[in-house]
Amino acid sequence: MTLFEKIVAREIPAKIVHEEDDLLAFADIAPQAPVHILIVPKQVIPRIGEATAQQAPLLGRMLIAAGKIAREMGIDESGFRIVINHGNEGGETVPHLHMHLLGGRQMTWPPG
Ligand code: 5GP
Repeated sequence: MTLFEKIVAREIPAKIVHEEDDLLAFADIAPQAPVHILIVPKQVIPRIGEATAQQAPLLGRMLIAAGKIAREMGIDESGFRIVINHGNEGGETVPHLHMHLLGGRQMTWPPG
């Protein structure tokens, strides 16, 4: 099982902030901003480049969930960033698709 499957199965504890039938959102263990939430599909999609057209509705729900969580956490007006890392040079470290929702501070561009 991937690390995030174990969190979905409640085998590893996490601060869960939002749940839907097919996705879960929880606080990142090493936050890079005052708000740093990970949104993951419950099914394993290793990384975004391996998602299929059939998974498009799920990917859309993940984005909509990010907006909802941002509103709930009070960062929708100040602004936030959504990040998906794919592969080694993309900075991916956990091979289970996850969307980072970051906010609560000024983001910079270009990203590191
Ligand atoms: P990636 O680098 O793959 O885009 O992001 C993986 C993220 O998972 C990192 O931000 C890292 O801090 C987070 N992470 C790693 N292990 C755990 C864990 O056990 N629990 C939680 N909540 N987050 C984790």
